[in-house]
Formats: sequence, C-alpha cells, structure tokens
Amino acid sequence: MNIVEIVPEIVPFSKTGGLADVAGALPDHLEALGATVLVITPLYRCVPAQAVERLDTAFKVSLGARTLDVRVARATLPGRGVPVYFIDVPEFYDRDHLYGPPGRDDPDNAARFALLSRAALELVKSLKFEPEVFHVHDWQAGLVPVYVQTTHALWFPNSKSVLTLHNLAYQGLFPPSALAMTGLDAGLFNWRQLEFYGKVSYLKGGIVFADAVTTVSPTYAREIQTPELGCGFDGILRERADRIFGILNGVDDREWNPQRDPYLKERYSANSLKGKGACKRELQSRLQLIERADVPLFGFVGRLVEQKGIDLLCSAMEILVRKDLQIALLGTGDPRYEEMLRRIAGRHPRQVAVRLEFDNELAHLVEGGADAFVMPSRYEPCGLNQLYSLKYGTLPVARRTGGLADTIVDATPQNLEAGKATGFLFDDYTAEALVAAIDRTLACWRNRTSWTRMMKTAMKQDFSWEASAKRYMELFRSLAPGVG
Ligand code: ADP
Repeated sequence: MNIVEIVPEIVPFSKTGGLADVAGALPDHLEALGATVLVITPLYRCVPAQAVERLDTAFKVSLGARTLDVRVARATLPGRGVPVYFIDVPEFYDRDHLYGPPGRDDPDNAARFALLSRAALELVKSLKFEPEVFHVHDWQAGLVPVYVQTTHALWFPNSKSVLTLHNLAYQGLFPPSALAMTGLDAGLFNWRQLEFYGKVSYLKGGIVFADAVTTVSPTYAREIQTPELGCGFDGILRERADRIFGILNGVDDREWNPQRDPYLKERYSANSLKGKGACKRELQSRLQLIERADVPLFGFVGRLVEQKGIDLLCSAMEILVRKDLQIALLGTGDPRYEEMLRRIAGRHPRQVAVRLEFDNELAHLVEGGADAFVMPSRYEPCGLNQLYSLKYGTLPVARRTGGLADTIVDATPQNLEAGKATGFLFDDYTAEALVAAIDRTLACWRNRTSWTRMMKTAMKQDFSWEASAKRYMELFRSLAPGVG
C-alpha cells in the first residue's frame, strides 16, 4: 500500500494546531502496518535549515498567468524515518506565519495552497511513486482530490483520495476569480462542485471529489451532517453520508506519557500515583498559587476562542472564584478574552493563574499538575487535550460534543459503580451547565476513593496511534482492494 500524505503543517517542523500532531504521528504508524508512506508539506520559515536536505529536484508549476519555480527539500520523521518532502517556494512559504498573522489570512492563500496541491502531484510524478491513496488534510490540500479526478486523472488512474477534516469551520473560501488560477475547468464552479454561495471553496472541492471523507471523531462525523455544526456543508455531507467515517486521533506516547515525561518534577503511573502530588506542588509554586494539596486545581490549555468555550469559562469565572478551587490557564487567542482573563487573575493571583503564551513545557506541567481539566468546547472535532488529561489522570470536565463525547465516560452513578467513569460531561452550552459540572467534580473530589478509582480508569484508556492507524488502513484497503 503506497500512501502520499499531503499536509499543511507537521510536527516537528511546523504547527498551529492538532492537525500537525496527527501529520507527525500517523505516517510512522501506517508504515508499522506495512504501508510505504511519503509526506509532502510546505517549507515554511519555521523549518530549521539544518533539519532538511536540499535536493536537486526542481520543476515548474503554472498558476494562471504565472509560472513558479519549485525546489524540493527532504527530511525524515523520527521512528521509521518516513520521508517528508518540502515544497520550497520562498515567495509563498518563507513567512513568519503559516497562514497569516493572528486572526488574519494571507491575501494570497488561494495561490499558496493551490500551489501546494499542484506541486505535490508534480513531485509524486517526478518521484515515480504510484500511490494507491492520496490522504490529504483540510482545505489547504482540498484541491488534491479534484485534480486527481480531473486534470491529473491520466497520471493517477489507480489512485484514490481520502480527505480528513480536522475542522470544518475553515473552508478555504476565495473569490470566483481564484478558479482560473487553479487551472481547473471553469465548469466546476457550480453549487454541486466547487461553488459555495458565490465563492470557490477548496474544502467543498475536496469533500465532493474525494473517494472517502474522514473526520477525527465519530461523533463529529455525525454532527457535521446537521445544520447546527455543518457550517453550511451539512447538505453535501449528508449526500455523501455513506463515504464519511470518524476515526479518533491517537496520542503520541513519546511526547505525552506521565511515566516518561521529562518536563515533570516526578513521574507517575496508574500503579504509582505518588508523583502526581509533587507535580501539583511544582505547578502551584511555578504559577504562584497557594501551595495546598487539598484544594482541587483545574487546568485549561488551548486557543482562547469561542470554539473552545472560552466565553463560557469567562462568564463562569466570577462564580468559580468563590469556590474552594484553583485555576491554571494557559492559552493565546482572542484579545477580548485575554484581557478578561488577565483581569480576573489580577484580582485573584493566588487562586487563578493565567499565562497568555504558547509554552509546550507549561502545557505538560498543567497536564501533570492539575487535578481536573476544563474543556467546555462549543464543538470539538477530536480534541487532544482531553486525551492527554486522561493519560495524566487529570479528570476532564467537558461539554458532550465531538471527540469529547467519544472519549470521556461521564461520572454518572451507574458508570461510577461499574468503574467506567473517567470525567464529567455536560450538555447545555451555558455557564450554568459548566458550573454545575464543576460542582459535580468538586463533590467527587471530596470522595478520595472514588476520585482515585476514576484517575486509574482514565489512565488505563487506550488512545494509541496503533489503534487509529489500523482504522485508516482498513479504510485505505477498502478503497484499493487486493493491495497489501
Ligand atoms: P486545536 O487543534 O483545535 O487547537 P487540539 O486539542 O486538537 O485543539 O490540539 C491543540 C494542541 O495545541 C494540543 O497539543 C495543545 O496542548 C496545544 N496547545 C494549544 N495552546 C497551547 C499553548 N498556549 N501552549 C502550549 N500548547 C498549546
């Protein structure tokens, strides 16, 4: 099984969100299952020059009236050494930000990511690699399935394509004039193919032309077929319902494992929880919170945007600070929420710690040191932080949506009794519902036997990449029957 992964970001070279973690981990696990994988991604400024090897490969790609010179660099992923090919077009990718400065899109993103798709296909041709499957991610690679079935059909007659949606809210919408530049037939600009309310949508193209569409959790796969969470695409997604699959993301065990985590003050495991107390003290001390073992510490790590339910958390703050609990929050995002949180922390510095930065080490310390982890997301395609939290015995308090609903078992009396409970779920998107879930968490926290049992159950859950990669391989094999 030959697979080409086309990704707009990939750990350890570039990252803005969970997609980069998936891109960095999945290829190695696909190879472990017998596939041959190569990955293609842009050469952004953040990729260190010494991390890549420049190749002699060079070719031209035309975009409308322009012809661009494409050069290629290469590196390998840790593990089995899956090759990563970088599309090097400095004019497009040698910039400070992957897609644009915070809160904005670069004005030439239509060209930048049409080029990624076109150049990736040219590169595959020049490498004489014959993929059974092009596995592409999000709108940035959404045109690949379109090219594979139209302009490039003769080159890749036996290749199927699979589009993975990491977040349907980002749709790659551009003015109709962008279509001419992509080199695709103008006839595709119709509402059943690439048009979305008068604009060209790269994501819609991918959804319509891919042989299968996956999302990063089964619940999100269903939710995007509803008007509430379909972002206007629910109609086309319902039409393709039998080709939509939900496959949960895994956790990169090398990076997130409390038994080996080099950032933690002390390591711990489900069988030996003692070290978690030291991690909590360390986090409290580092964030200048009162160092008390007997007060539950709630963590939050993530983008401070409404998708993550940060508006709920901000509205609930005034009520929460009156309870005997502490909060450690790490994130960056909407300046409005940053300011609100800064003010609350300023008024309660020994109870609420807010760090408005991107800090991987601190993210590990919060997962290791907090008792519970808050994720009141409005929607959550998969969510990685609740998976880390479960592994670290940091019980998630989350809204029942998307991947959160699929991975957390609510502490109902029955689930507690059966020893299955791993967290606290709530349904309504309101601050009251969040506070009620936190109250349930506090009540459970006071029953140490029950809490410890939940921690152990949470830590034993299997969210390995092995399991997820197997699901992807099953899907790929179903598209290319008879292949390895
Ligand atoms: P999304 O991709 O929607 O942002 P995910 O939960 O899938 O959300 O993945 C977010 C990833 O980014 C996680 O690995 C999380 O730890 C990390 N992250 C988010 N914000 C920060 C931050 N401020 N500091 C460190 N890591 C962060």
